Amino acid sequence: MLLAVSKNCSADAVRGLANAGQQAFGESYVQEAIAKITVLSDLHLSWHFIGPIQRNKTAQIAASFDWVHGVDRAIIAQRLSAARQPGQQPLNVCLQVNVSGEASKSGVAPAELADLAAAVRDLPGLRLRGLMAIPQATADVALQRVQFALLRQCLERLNAHGAGLDTLSMGMSDDLEAAIAEGATIVRVGTALFGSRLKG
Ligand SMILES: *Cc1c(COP(=O)(O)O)cnc(C)c1O
Repeated sequence: MLLAVSKNCSADAVRGLANAGQQAFGESYVQEAIAKITVLSDLHLSWHFIGPIQRNKTAQIAASFDWVHGVDRAIIAQRLSAARQPGQQPLNVCLQVNVSGEASKSGVAPAELADLAAAVRDLPGLRLRGLMAIPQATADVALQRVQFALLRQCLERLNAHGAGLDTLSMGMSDDLEAAIAEGATIVRVGTALFGSRLKG
């Protein structure tokens, strides 16, 4: 699935791509996203939150989005679940895994993933769909693939224990080919669709 990443893009740019048939859009900043979701509500698009999740934004995210990709702490999952309204479908979530081991990166360490998945799986407002990663940026395709393969192996390990996950959210404009080769089911593509993200 192609997720069009529309952060820093205008609502008109989103509408243009939606008119060309694109259905799923990714946003990283809550305020900016909710403004667009509101103006474009006539289009019935699907909205994915892909940015870092602050605790005090979980209610707004749970109310306005269909998917959240960057869950890496149980407390965030609990807050999203509690804020999801009974009339809404469960919020689809991916757990973010730190596949590069960089200290600066968010995401749960692969060794802690099983515990986090167990904590998220039974939350009533959420539907755990799979895993997401933002690997270390590199032009080295072999290194891109090693990192994407690690995420796929994490998913396979959870599924071997009955997790039933169907989503690997990995790959962006510069590395989507390697991600697809390693089994991505969602690629998150911004600049390759919209051009470089200049404000205004
Ligand atoms: C911005 C962003 C993307 C899209 O990146 P491009 O290089 O513009 O394709 C994908 N995923 C996340 C989490 C992002 O923040």
